[in-house]
Amino acid sequence: MLSKAIIHAGQDIYEQSSKSSERIAMRVLKTDVLVIGGGAAGLRAAIEARQANVDVLLVSKTPAGLANCTAYAGGGFQAPFGKFTPKQHFERTVKGGKSLNNQKLVDVMTREAAARLLELREFGVNIETGDGTARVKGPFAMNGTGLTLPLSRYARSSGVIILENVIVAGLEKSGDCAVGAAGFNRLNGEVIPLHAKSIILASGGAGRIYSRTDNPVGTTGEGYAIAYSAGAKLIDMEFVQFFPFGLVEPGLPMFLFNPGIVEAGRLVNTEGKEFLKDAGFSPGRDFIEHRDTLSRLICTEIQEGKGDRDAVLLDLKGTEEIGHGLTMLGEFKEIKRRWLSKVDLTKQCLHIAPLEHYFMGGIEIDENGATNVLGLYAAGEVTGGVDGANRLGGNALTNTIVFGARAGRAAAEHAKSLERFETSDLSAREIEKDLKEVRARPQSPGAGPREIRKRLQATMTKCVGVIRSKETLEKAYACIQELSRDLSRIYATTTWELGEVLEVESMLTVAEIATRCASERRESRGAHYRLDHPNEDRNWLKNLLVERSGTEMRIQMREIVRTKPSLCDEVGIEVR
Ligand SMILES: Cc1cc2nc3c(=O)[nH]c(=O)nc-3n(C[C@H](O)[C@H](O)[C@H](O)COP(=O)(O)OP(=O)(O)OC[C@H]3O[C@@H](n4cnc5c(N)ncnc54)[C@H](O)[C@@H]3O)c2cc1C
Repeated sequence: MLSKAIIHAGQDIYEQSSKSSERIAMRVLKTDVLVIGGGAAGLRAAIEARQANVDVLLVSKTPAGLANCTAYAGGGFQAPFGKFTPKQHFERTVKGGKSLNNQKLVDVMTREAAARLLELREFGVNIETGDGTARVKGPFAMNGTGLTLPLSRYARSSGVIILENVIVAGLEKSGDCAVGAAGFNRLNGEVIPLHAKSIILASGGAGRIYSRTDNPVGTTGEGYAIAYSAGAKLIDMEFVQFFPFGLVEPGLPMFLFNPGIVEAGRLVNTEGKEFLKDAGFSPGRDFIEHRDTLSRLICTEIQEGKGDRDAVLLDLKGTEEIGHGLTMLGEFKEIKRRWLSKVDLTKQCLHIAPLEHYFMGGIEIDENGATNVLGLYAAGEVTGGVDGANRLGGNALTNTIVFGARAGRAAAEHAKSLERFETSDLSAREIEKDLKEVRARPQSPGAGPREIRKRLQATMTKCVGVIRSKETLEKAYACIQELSRDLSRIYATTTWELGEVLEVESMLTVAEIATRCASERRESRGAHYRLDHPNEDRNWLKNLLVERSGTEMRIQMREIVRTKPSLCDEVGIEVR
């Protein structure tokens, strides 16, 4: 028997069991502010909106605070503490972003970061600060839970209602306004219309459109896809950050390798050359600002035939004795205990290659997280603009907290300004109909959601990865078209698989957007490196904006957003 509690969300009622895995969603949910995503951005937004005294419902397809990028994060923030000033933070971010950043967003983030991060202590987060940094800690490989778990506890205790295992698969609009969303309960298969006065998308990135990624399995990009379908503008979608040092040892899980460990050993090609050091780079020092260049140098070695199994080699002989990096030694011992116990590191090198890590691009927002669709706000990795062409390490978490809070506040104010709910269930009805059809289809070869997903991931890694060219991008586009045609045959045998179908549809949309933007940008800048246009071109000091126009995808160039008066002039960055 499920024990049921009646919970009021806005004016309506739904029932909820005491166990999250047994929750039963009823017909319609109504709330003032709907937050989509239970990572740092969503939780911070929900807390802020709740503090403005409105009803808040947070929907997440994974348990709130867990199984998202924030939970897996290293827990490091870049922020103006100690001798590091907001202006230096601004300068470092814009230089790192190869001048493509939205300077107004960077200005807000760097000015507010310190106060916002210290405020986290009020929510129970144990955050330590250092010179230019802050840090939270958690168990091995899950330092980010030092942030998400206290935030999720605080959100619940302050009255935020949290609904888990629900995939939001579409936004509802009335005229030009966003008025809700359509959720799919991946446990019981119910489609749930979610009516809201304001909606905040905080659904994270899309790392899982690649086969080589450190992102958790649910990072499939629905936020970008549903925002795009609802008419929101996306920006800089061609810029995808790869973390240079990922463990890609056959048979082991793929994960991000601590640069300190890489620094302690010797990263070599198959000729034994320490090619990064030869090019003047140090893995331990340069991984914050130069992820783009380090990843490119590694991939170039592999492409030139000086790699092994699409990777370069990390020689760790004698590293424990070196005692380099101290704090990372404990972590390394744990990695060895868990995954490398059968690997004789005195004889064998480890395979290292860049892993997809972060989407720099995303939904375009203003300083308050507002999108161009009235009532729709966004925060965190799903947004674009702060990072430009290459994100500075530690800025993603800072971004989630500063803009999470801002979006939460603005969304609450918007909700308060509306007297009544506008409602629509159009999207929910369409999804329900589509899923019924999918469920009734026969199992045709190659058309299961997992097969389509795998083919997409392999193509994206090969063709729209660290190094691209006209030829690889055309190949990727053709493959995406073919896979999109296969969607008409896609089938699902279980409720869980229906959820995977929804994910695959979004993955294809995001892949197409990223590929088309990468084709459009005919230069190399930051994380976007094109073999056929290998140089940065000042004529391309422009953002690419993507928007849906009818059934067409419209991509337009736009001037970058600068502060007035110019902060770049003040800190001495020549924007070119
Ligand atoms: C291994 C790793 C280490 C990192 N380390 C650092 C670091 O040390 N410092 C740093 O600054 N950055 C780091 N990053 C990047 C940073 O962690 C992320 O960019 C950031 O945490 C994203 O937060 P978010 O709240 O936007 O999204 P997430 O934390 O990914 O949360 C997204 C949420 O949305 C939910 N969701 C997604 N789609 C749907 C849907 N359709 N319906 C309902 N819910 C949905 C998910 O279930 C999840 O709850 C790291 C990333 C990784 C992968």
